[in-house]
Amino acid sequence: MIDYRATPIIEIVTPETNEQNIRLLVRREDLNHPFVSGNKWWKLKYNLEEAVRLSHHKLLTFGGAYSNHIFATAAAGKELGLKTIGVIRGEKTLPLNHTLKFAESCGMELHYISREEYRKKTEPDFIQQLQNLFGDFYLIPEGGTNDLAIKGCAEWALKLEQETKFDYMCLAVGTGGTMAGLINGLSPLKKVIGFPVLKGAQFLEGEIEKQLNINSKNWSLAYDYHFGGYGKSNSVLENFITKMKAEHQLPLDKVYTGKMLYGVLDLIRSRYFTEGSNILVLHTGGLQTNYL
Ligand SMILES: *Cc1c(COP(=O)(O)O)cnc(C)c1O
Repeated sequence: MIDYRATPIIEIVTPETNEQNIRLLVRREDLNHPFVSGNKWWKLKYNLEEAVRLSHHKLLTFGGAYSNHIFATAAAGKELGLKTIGVIRGEKTLPLNHTLKFAESCGMELHYISREEYRKKTEPDFIQQLQNLFGDFYLIPEGGTNDLAIKGCAEWALKLEQETKFDYMCLAVGTGGTMAGLINGLSPLKKVIGFPVLKGAQFLEGEIEKQLNINSKNWSLAYDYHFGGYGKSNSVLENFITKMKAEHQLPLDKVYTGKMLYGVLDLIRSRYFTEGSNILVLHTGGLQTNYL
């Protein structure tokens, strides 16, 4: 329904990958769409189809002021001719940041609510209030994670498995929706390693488990690469991102993919992966936050 461009794979070679005969492949899924990029394309795919099938004219969703999901939903709505409403956590601050300026330029209506109100974002009474305010809409939860998003990511997994030979799949994790969908779609012989970007993300284990339709324990979470928490960064991470761009022509973001790839290379250094294996790393997008 929305455009999809074929995405390339690049190989990262380091002294450690050479020494351990590891193939480190990065799927540049960030290049699948100029604005609805990376995993957000796959999470939105069936939600957009459903909204159109149910004859909705409006999408409403939730996010923080830097949300890649808000950015992607605004662009997808514009492309499909659907109105979009972004319910944004916290107060409006001017000038608008890059994310929100872009969202507005796509026609998204921004509705700011306090952090306390934002906590009610899944309560039926609160959704009803939003309906009184905006009329009928198709609701996409925060981060875009719901059953249809998981279905889209399972389809992505199938495609990845058909196109590339790999033993491990690595990706950055926010809500865990993408990871759950990928695990559902992959053969249980593949190992999936998620890199949570939040601090104290142990709760994700149960969140992901709940959304699985297979009972396999072929997946794990690497908790040590959050760099202080969501949106937090430091010079080690920033230098790493600069180095990956210069030496491997690989652009990464500070919120998700930079932390994840730092973690993957650190695990390679500590010989976590079996010698001679192939690791498929997913570039899930998010480069828009580099403009902030
Ligand atoms: C949203 C996002 C994620 C996290 O996806 P979840 O399904 O919430 O785990 C990872 N990487 C990037 C670049 C994202 O924008």
